[in-house]
Amino acid sequence: MENSSNKKLYVISGSSGVGKGTVLKGFMAKHPDFALSVSCTTRAPRVGEIDGINYFFLTKEQFQECIDNDKFLEWAEFAGNRYGTKEKYIRQCLNNGMNVILEIETKGALQVKKKMPEAILIFIAPPSLEELEQRLRGRHTEDEETIQKRLNEVKKELECAKQYDYTVINDKVENAISALEKIITGEQEKC
Ligand code: 5GP
Repeated sequence: MENSSNKKLYVISGSSGVGKGTVLKGFMAKHPDFALSVSCTTRAPRVGEIDGINYFFLTKEQFQECIDNDKFLEWAEFAGNRYGTKEKYIRQCLNNGMNVILEIETKGALQVKKKMPEAILIFIAPPSLEELEQRLRGRHTEDEETIQKRLNEVKKELECAKQYDYTVINDKVENAISALEKIITGEQEKC
C-alpha cells in the first residue's frame, strides 16, 4: 500500500478484557490528531454500541461482498465472528497527513505487517492470565461459552505477541497509557 506522507500506522492488539479499549480511549483523549479506524464486523452490537462509531455492523453477506471485492486491508475471524479493516479509509488518512491507529486482533495485525512492514505493532498484555479471566467475568457481557472461546484466543494471542514490535503490560491504566505514549512519541520522532 502506498503512503505518500510520512505518517504512521500503529496497530494495537490485546487480549479480550485486558483493558485496551480504556488505554486507547485515554491515549486518544490526549491525542485527538490521531485517527482511530472504525472496523467492520459481523458480530451483533452490544448494548450502547452505535453503527458507524464503534463498528460498521455488517451482515455475513455484506462482509463476504467486501472480501470478494478486495476492500479489506486485513480481516480475520475471532470467537465466531468476522472483523475487518477497510483499506480505503486507512490510505486516505495516511495520505491526508494523519497518523492512524487500528485496534485489531493478532491474525489481522500480522497481515497488516506483511502488507505494510513499516506499520508499528504494539501488544497490550494482561499482568497475568488469572487476572484477565477475572476481568472478563466481571464485565458480565458474555456467556460462559463465549468466555471460554475468548480465553482460548488469548492464549494464542500471547504467542503471536512475540512477533510484535512492542509490548505494554496493563497493570494500571495510567501506566499503560504513559507507556503507549512513550512508544508512539519515540516512533514519531524517528520521522
Ligand atoms: P470485540 O467483539 O470485543 O469488539 O472485538 C473482538 C476482537 O476483534 C478484539 O480483539 C478486537 O481488537 C478485534 N477487532 C476489532 N476490529 C477488528 C478488525 O478490523 N480486524 C481484526 N482483525 N480484528 C478486529
